Amino acid sequence: MRLSKYFLPTLKENPAEAQIPSHTLMLRAGMIRQSASGIYSWLPLGLRVLRKIEQIVREEQDKAGAQELLMPTIQPADLWIESGRHDAYGPELLRIKDRHSRDLLYGPTNEEMITDIFRNGVKSYKELPSILYHIQWKFRDEVRPRFGVMRGREFLMKDSYSFDLDYEGAKRSYNKMFVAYLRTFARMGLKAIPMRAETGPIGGDLSHEFIVLAETGESQVYCHKDYLTMEIPSDDVSYEDDLEPIFEKWTSLYAATEDKYVKEEADVVGNDLISARGIEVGQTFYFGKKYSEPMNVNVTDKEGKKVALEMGSYGIGVSRLFGAIIEASHDDSGIIWPDSVAPFKVGLINLKSGSDDTDKACDDIYAALINAGVEVLYDDRKERAGVKFNNMDLIGLPWQLVIGPRGLANGVVEIKRRATGEKTEMSIEAAIAKLTA
Ligand code: ATP
Ligand code: MG
Repeated sequence: MRLSKYFLPTLKENPAEAQIPSHTLMLRAGMIRQSASGIYSWLPLGLRVLRKIEQIVREEQDKAGAQELLMPTIQPADLWIESGRHDAYGPELLRIKDRHSRDLLYGPTNEEMITDIFRNGVKSYKELPSILYHIQWKFRDEVRPRFGVMRGREFLMKDSYSFDLDYEGAKRSYNKMFVAYLRTFARMGLKAIPMRAETGPIGGDLSHEFIVLAETGESQVYCHKDYLTMEIPSDDVSYEDDLEPIFEKWTSLYAATEDKYVKEEADVVGNDLISARGIEVGQTFYFGKKYSEPMNVNVTDKEGKKVALEMGSYGIGVSRLFGAIIEASHDDSGIIWPDSVAPFKVGLINLKSGSDDTDKACDDIYAALINAGVEVLYDDRKERAGVKFNNMDLIGLPWQLVIGPRGLANGVVEIKRRATGEKTEMSIEAAIAKLTA
């Protein structure tokens, strides 16, 4: 992509409305714009990152055996009346009437709808276990939308739902999602610590919040210091394996959010405990028959008896992760994207746009990288070098490739790694080889 033609409205100054780095940087880097309180438009550069985060989430769900579907954002109120949550959910639920005065709502989550789909589609225990998920926009009319996409009103969420015949099956599904979550967040360069949690309006018995430690996090959390060095399950571990030992290992030290911690463990503070702020990027719930009993989600078991299913649900805040990644990875100059979610891999900087030599060299390098499948943002604008450097640092692409007349005369270009600031001069061929490797 040529920057001269790219819609990238960057801002020089920190916007007054932003209180935390991710919000400031997302606005400054031209990635989002607020449309209404807690509701954002995703501009081209921001959308590229959102899609990459979404894709990592999707791949890890698929590997765990979950199947993707897509449910609508608007739901009939009837289902929520049936489950008892229409009243219970309170003012966060955006209630809508259509032209025929039928009651609808903008889904804040999809337990009811998936339950309805599942009960109409599955009759026998032989069709279990099953984990279904979708990645869809949600709406919660939060009292205090703030911190940009971290606490929006409209936000993108991945939500999975598991259906099993008995508790043992449900726990296996829970463990699969638990491991998938550890892997998902690690691929984005994040260490998310599973902490025992209250189940809130979703209901149920067993729940973990996956928390990324960051100074700007909204929750006060406590965790054992060993969590910071605990290893993510390697690829050798298959989802067909018994995952209980991994679950045990990851839940054996106490890590908890404030509410749970204060209630249950006020007296076990030791030197090994870290007190920190955290961002909730996902939550897993096992809630047994909470929905399947009132909503009649049954299958016939081996003996031909009808049994209500054991269910769980598993959310990931896809758009919140965008902010969480920036909170975990930025410096005074701007964002530092982990390679896995960067909007482009390389920022190609032409130090003298309009000069035949540098233009020719940049065009050739650009073509070579694009042909090799590398995502490149080429700053071909007629701007001062300082402006170009600052812009590239701000938007945080992992690699910068700098082409100037002086270097070209000596047969070299410069590569800079955004994360470390390390700069290396090398031949054009070597630079292309390094960036396509
Ligand atoms: P919170 O405690 O932060 O309000 P929650 O526990 O109500 O979140 P869940 O029902 O667990 O949220 O939803 C699953 C995930 O969706 C959360 O872990 C979080 O990452 C994300 N999420 C929830 N609410 C918002 C929001 N208002 N804006 C952005 N992401 C959100
Ligand atoms: Mg939660």
